[in-house]
Amino acid sequence: MKIVNFGIDSKSNLYFMLKFDIITIFPEVFKEYFNTSIIKRAQQKKLVKINVHNLRDFTKDKHKTVDDKPYGGGPGMILKIEPIYKALKKIKGSRFKVQDLKTILLSPAGKQFDQKTAQKFSKLKQILFICGRYEGIDARVEKFVDEKISVGPYVLSGGELPAMTMVEAITRLVPGVIKAESLKEETNLKIENCKLKITGEYPQFTRPEVLTIREKNGKIKKLKVPKVLLSGNHQAIKKWREKKCQKSSKI
Ligand code: SAH
Repeated sequence: MKIVNFGIDSKSNLYFMLKFDIITIFPEVFKEYFNTSIIKRAQQKKLVKINVHNLRDFTKDKHKTVDDKPYGGGPGMILKIEPIYKALKKIKGSRFKVQDLKTILLSPAGKQFDQKTAQKFSKLKQILFICGRYEGIDARVEKFVDEKISVGPYVLSGGELPAMTMVEAITRLVPGVIKAESLKEETNLKIENCKLKITGEYPQFTRPEVLTIREKNGKIKKLKVPKVLLSGNHQAIKKWREKKCQKSSKI
């Protein structure tokens, strides 16, 4: 048995890397994004591994057909079940215990993805995403998935952006991907009455201290960084930020 998804950290500790597998008919759209910034570094550090699979590779016919008309009539095309089933069978393998692996169908009718789910998923060992396209996927796919997930209450043309969104949100939470300090600040998220309350966020500024702009009416306007942040008085800065946090949570 060949186990490939282990890594070694800077202190020579052995750890499991989180493996993502994405099944799509548009594999090329992932390349650029996953080869950028934090996700790129997470892969280089072997904290995560992302495999994008072309659904067409799991077809048998000359035309690599992945879709067909819906039974019973109706508009559009439906992704066929056989190539998806074959892809899942090949990708899943038998390396992980059921509880360490999740197969996710991206669907606008699914459970809404949120930070809590991202945290839960970041502890898994393998996550498989099935990206739908066209009018959707043959419903029998649900027999082979653990969860149906939506990234928001709107309909996109495919599951590719939702998969990228989820991979990014989950990857950020894998230990070692971003500084623990930044993570602590940004995970102060509370969901109350279905509203996302951001309690740990305060306005941030960087150089220049003053931005001079000319408004439409010709007037010059100076946009300044709050003085307290330039004061070097850490106590005062902390107080100011706390005040701003309380303000920003009132949404
Ligand atoms: N006719 C379908 C919509 C298909 S959209 C329906 O009414 O449900 C095509 C594909 O895009 C879906 O199969 C799904 O994989 C993906 N998709 C669209 N919106 C999404 C969303 N909000 N979250 C996750 N996936 C979505």
